[in-house]
Amino acid sequence: MLELKNVETFYSGIQALKGISLNVEKGEIVTLIGSNGAGKSTALKSISGLVKVGSGQITYKGNDITKKQAHETTLLGIAHVPEGRRIFPKLTVKENLLMGAFSVKDKRAIEERMERAFKYFPKLKDRLEQKGGTMSGGEQQMLAIGRALMMKPELLMLDEPSMGLAPIIVEQIFDIIRELNDEGITILLVEQNAYQALQVAHRGYVIQTGAIRLEGYGKDLIQNNEVREAYLA
Ligand code: ATP
Repeated sequence: MLELKNVETFYSGIQALKGISLNVEKGEIVTLIGSNGAGKSTALKSISGLVKVGSGQITYKGNDITKKQAHETTLLGIAHVPEGRRIFPKLTVKENLLMGAFSVKDKRAIEERMERAFKYFPKLKDRLEQKGGTMSGGEQQMLAIGRALMMKPELLMLDEPSMGLAPIIVEQIFDIIRELNDEGITILLVEQNAYQALQVAHRGYVIQTGAIRLEGYGKDLIQNNEVREAYLA
């Protein structure tokens, strides 16, 4: 479904990705783990078009999307929930959700998508008129994912959805990731919470200073000594 070949990405001269190659098959949950600054977020931004790819190639469902911008990849079915859950704090929950369906004109389709988001996040339905910024961290993360679901994505990319959340909320987020995947959404998950990410993922890649260091099945990477020492200690 998604393939990166030798992707290099630079920030004004600093090379953040040093030739990354990876693939995500339809129906999979794939995780990218690695320490702070390894390049995980940059990998997602390169795919969604939030940063410009320097060289290499990204294909999605057989089409070259290397040079596509964020609004174009969204229309192709790729939803990116960035790190730090960038919801619109001054807009209500409803308005935030509607932002996710900006390209949809059909009112019924919008309502159906909203109901689907409520299925995963029933709390959002009770808070429709509340301002996004007044919700708890966990609720904002749920709103950010809910908004992404309004795009009806085929590929959902989540950047550190568990960051800064209480353990019980983290559990809920990982359960929802599983459910979304069970319903057919392919997931690319960036996490510092390597243990939980590798448990939920079919496969994983370890990124170190802009390069892929290891790859394998989630359950194998959990057992890998290098992974255990560096990321699960
Ligand atoms: P984190 O979990 O801290 O976000 P990460 O693995 O997602 O880590 P990236 O955010 O992708 O890492 O950063 C990769 C490298 O690129 C780091 O060295 C970082 O300092 C650098 N970098 C990221 N964003 C920018 C930017 N906008 N301008 C300059 N350098 C950047």
